Order: sequence, then C-alpha cells, then structure tokens
Amino acid sequence: TAKLPFEALSVETLAARLGANEALCSHIGKDTSRWNVREVGDGNLNLVFIVEGVAGAAVVKQALPYVRLVGDSWPLPLKRSFFEYHALTRQQARAPGSVPAIHHFDEGQALIIMEYLSPHIILRRALIEGRQLPKIARDIGLFMARTLFRGSDLHMATKDRKADLALFADNVELCDITENLVFSDPYFDAKMNRHTSPQLDRIVAELRADRDLKVEAQRLKHIFAANAETLLHGDLHSGSIMVTDTETRMIDPEFAFYGPIAFDVGMLLANFWMAFFSQRGHEQNGKRDTMRAYLLDVTVETWSVFRTEFSHLWRTERTGMLYQKSLFEDQGDRLGAEQALDHMLHQVWTDMLGFAGVEVHRRILGLAHNADFETIADEDLRATCEAKALKFGRHIAVNRRQIHSIDEVNKLAALIE
Ligand code: ADP
Ligand code: MG
Ligand code: MG
Ligand code: MG
Repeated sequence: TAKLPFEALSVETLAARLGANEALCSHIGKDTSRWNVREVGDGNLNLVFIVEGVAGAAVVKQALPYVRLVGDSWPLPLKRSFFEYHALTRQQARAPGSVPAIHHFDEGQALIIMEYLSPHIILRRALIEGRQLPKIARDIGLFMARTLFRGSDLHMATKDRKADLALFADNVELCDITENLVFSDPYFDAKMNRHTSPQLDRIVAELRADRDLKVEAQRLKHIFAANAETLLHGDLHSGSIMVTDTETRMIDPEFAFYGPIAFDVGMLLANFWMAFFSQRGHEQNGKRDTMRAYLLDVTVETWSVFRTEFSHLWRTERTGMLYQKSLFEDQGDRLGAEQALDHMLHQVWTDMLGFAGVEVHRRILGLAHNADFETIADEDLRATCEAKALKFGRHIAVNRRQIHSIDEVNKLAALIE
C-alpha cells in the first residue's frame, strides 16, 4: 500500500486514524468508541496525546514539521521522531527499565506509541512543589553511567559504534538548536532571547562583555561538536524525567547525538542547581531550607553514583577498542587501567562543570526558559533568584579546572544563595 503523507493528529481524529493500529489496540482495547483522547504536550516541540481505552492507556507522541513553541515560521524535520525512537531502544537495552516501553513507531507519521507513565509526574514540577524524591539521584546516576559508557568505544564493537555514529549524525537540526541556544545565544543579543527585564539588564550586559566566559563557552561548544564519544540523551533536564517516590523514567531523547559524556551529566546537574536557586521563589507555603539541602545532597549522590557505576563498568565491561585489557589487566597492570579511568573521570568532571554553567545561563537568558524560575510570579523575586544562578553558572564555567569536588561546588552555591 502507498505510504500516506504526514498528517498531524488531533484529539478529534486520533481514534479514526489509529483505530486499526494493532499495537495500540492490544494495550488499550480495540473498541474506539470507548477511547478517550487528551492532548497533554507541555514541551516545546511536539504533540503528546494520552489515549485511554477499556483495557488501559498509552501515550502517542507525534513530531510536527515545525517547532511547536514558535510555530511554522521555524521548520524542524519530522525525522527527530526517528532519532527519539532509536535512542529509546538503545537506552532500554543499555539501562533496562529506565525509559517507557515502546509499543510502536511509524516513521512516515513521525509518531511513537509508548507506555503511559502514571502516576508519574515531571521531576521539575515535583521539585517546584518542594517534593523530595528518594530515588532520583541513584536512578539518574545509574542511567547516565550505563547509557554513556555502553554507547561508547569503551564498550561497543567499533563497527556498531561507527554505524550508530553515522545514524545519529543526521540529527543535524536538533544539534544546531543545542549549538546555538546553549553555547552562543545567551552571550549576544540573539533574536529569540528574553530575560527578566529591566531587573537583569545590567548582569546580562556584563555577561555579554565577559571575554573569559565567552571563550570558555566556545571551547565547550567545540567539545560538544567535535568530541563524538558516546550516544547522548541530549536533552536530559528535569523536564525530561518522570518520577514517583519509587520510580524514575527518562523520556524525550529526540536530541540524541554522539557527543561528550560530560554533556548529559552537566545539563542534568545544572537543573538541580537551578532548582536550588529557584527555591526562594517558592517559599509562600513555608521555608524551603530542607529542600535546598536535599537538592545539594542530590547533586552529591548523583555524581557519586555516576562515578561509581562508570568505574564498575570500566572494570567489568571494557570490551571496546579503547584501553584494551590486553594492554593493562591481562599483563597484570591493574594500576594502568585505574590510571586511565581516573584521567577520563577527571575530564568528565571538568567538562561537566562547564556544560552545567552554560546550561544555567541559557535557561535564564535564551529562548527556552524553565518553570523553576518562570513560575515565580513576583518579577523582582524571580530576578533575584535568576541573578544568583547566573553568577553561579559563570563561576563554575570559567573556573571549572580549579574546582575539585562536588562539595566545593555546593559550598559555592550556598555562598551565592
Ligand atoms: P517534547 O519533546 O515536546 O518536550 P515530551 O516528550 O517532553 O515532549 O512530552 C511532553 C509532556 O508529555 C511531558 O512533559 C509529560 O508531561 C507528557 N508525557 C510525555 N511522555 C509521556 C509518557 N510516556 N507518559 C506520561 N506522560 C508523558
Ligand atoms: Mg520534553
Ligand atoms: Mg517538556
Ligand atoms: Mg523534546
């Protein structure tokens, strides 16, 4: 049968269009007259529907040929859905149970049918509400170590790694968004920038005139673009993680790309530090001192779990073409393998701090802001929180080679707060 042209789904058309989809019917029941469809997409890019039937529920995510947040003046390839699907299958293989189960993928319609995560909520929302999730640090630390290690030449057969590198190399437009929005736009008067004004005008001018910061941001951009180490999630912020007290799932890897290990780690930790600096803005219903302490503890534990698991995989699953065991352990030189591991983790550490710093900046100065700050209605209060975060981001980005531990970073955060 001829391939149907792409057509965006709607709440009204979804049952008619997907009523014969076997994967969907097998999960929710095939009586479409009993289907209930809601559109819940709160993201910047895509449509997300929850479809409930008599036998269950599922999520249908569909890309649009443009950026949802901006409209059809900003076209964006439907193929991002292909990259999201393939990233999800790899994450599921490398870190089982960390992503929603995938029921179906239709490349032509750019749609993915997947498990409906319920009663999970978006981690960012939970942190804004002041909820302390007991498992996130461990779950996210393990997810990052497993996906980032197992997607690299440390683990994969190099033939497979190169095939994946080629597959994801075509995700050019989403990479371009990261390259511009994260590493460049915050540091000049880019068209789609916005910030809390006039409160932040002076600090924005200072950052744009900050030579050391701009050079560092471009060095980081170079590392991002040229260091194709592993398959990244690419958009691993607290809005891409769904949680309950007992479960953590990563969603939305459409920015997946081969890049530096430190990128996902830095982006993720930046979101915990932003949550930390935004807590003052959410104190209407009581102080957030314990929440602030919790968030710093989460950064410590996430980094520690990441390091520990990455080191464990280094010792037990280093089967790729890098740092072969024949050079080290097989000759009785376990110290050599540990030396190489320490070099690698040190590099991840210093680069991670840089990526975290620029991620903080772009969320306050660029196009895509985050709800941690945006939901602070009082603009003076919001600007106070944002200014502290900006200062922190600048400090860790520029001084990343002189900062030695996550405790040291958190002391700086507490000092600025
Ligand atoms: P976008 O790429 O547009 O950011 P996301 O994949 O982040 O889209 O999804 C947008 C929102 O839809 C999420 O913030 C979440 O609330 C909801 N959502 C997405 N996937 C699921 C899922 N599998 N289960 C439940 N809710 C989901
Ligand atoms: Mg999203
Ligand atoms: Mg979102
Ligand atoms: Mg997305």
